[in-house]
Amino acid sequence: MNERSHRSSRVNAVGGLLVLTAAFAVAGVYHAATWDRPHREAMVAMLVAVYLLSLLIVALPPSLVFATRRRRVGIAAFWNLVCVALVAVSAALDGGLRSPIAAMMFVAVVFASVSYASVALVAAVGFAGLASTVAVGALVGGASWPYVTMFTSALAIVAGTCVWQAHMGRRRRRQLAEASRTDPLTGCLNRRGFVEQYERAVSEAERTGTPFALVEFDIDGFKEVNDVYGHEAGDRLLVQLVRRVRGVLRSADEIARLGGDEFVVLAAGADREGAQALVERIERALSPQTGSIGVAVYPHDGRTLDELYRAADAGVYKTKRSRRSEGKGTRTPGEAN
Ligand code: GH3
Ligand code: MG
Repeated sequence: MNERSHRSSRVNAVGGLLVLTAAFAVAGVYHAATWDRPHREAMVAMLVAVYLLSLLIVALPPSLVFATRRRRVGIAAFWNLVCVALVAVSAALDGGLRSPIAAMMFVAVVFASVSYASVALVAAVGFAGLASTVAVGALVGGASWPYVTMFTSALAIVAGTCVWQAHMGRRRRRQLAEASRTDPLTGCLNRRGFVEQYERAVSEAERTGTPFALVEFDIDGFKEVNDVYGHEAGDRLLVQLVRRVRGVLRSADEIARLGGDEFVVLAAGADREGAQALVERIERALSPQTGSIGVAVYPHDGRTLDELYRAADAGVYKTKRSRRSEGKGTRTPGEAN
């Protein structure tokens, strides 16, 4: 639960209040102009009660009202269903679906779909709006069946469209979240995605008492591949190398690209021995390329990402230095064949 969720829930609550204020003003004019008709006092009293409830939701501290997702969705559902009931009862008191108040049901359903991320909530408001409208049409009368059918069908179409739009919105948010965590070239996690996975791995390690390892590797002489074969060939080689390394990982392991030709594998549950075995598998997967590889095991080599990363990095550079002093370079893709 974070500040951003508090803020967006509060923005929704304030938005709801603004929509309600507009509806209140319109209804006020309507009630004043039709004051000689029955039930005006009751309708105004209900309007004022719902308005005060909305003010209360906006006025209470966001950290209290919107503390958990469950509470946020619960309060939003409660408030929206109260508004649906207000429209249905007011329309019923005003003579049924022929009352212009019934048109406010469209406002309630559309408001829910533009304001909330929860598809279930949008569907619940749409369903409640439709069911209460059908009930008012059937029980109160005052309108012909073609009118009631047309009105409720239009509302059903709007509610269905709203649910569909909420579903598509959720899909777009997921795709965006995925893209923001992924390296577009190789499909690996990017740095942000890696940090999230790392935090998950730490919680899991703390919970279960098992270690995990970071295995970092940097391709040797990769610049030369670009220089000799061009950048596109370099890109293709990176994609191939990642595919081959993925082939030797377990399903719980994650691979991330932290820089141009620098990668890190987060090996869940691996101790030093397990990490060493993984290093050998990665070396075989990279072959005939070579990579300089360093390992850090949580919690022995560090507890923070920074400490672990520095430990793994030191391993990478140690290997790189000894490779250089031995005069071993990387093989270009041409040499691989
Ligand atoms: P070393 O053996 O010391 O690792 O040197 P290196 O030639 O592999 O070069 P280094 O690791 O220092 O730098 C990585 C190089 O990878 C720099 C850049 O030319 C290249 N590179 C970085 N990002 C990309 C990319 O997205 N595509 C391609 N094709 N090349 C990249
Ligand atoms: Mg390199």
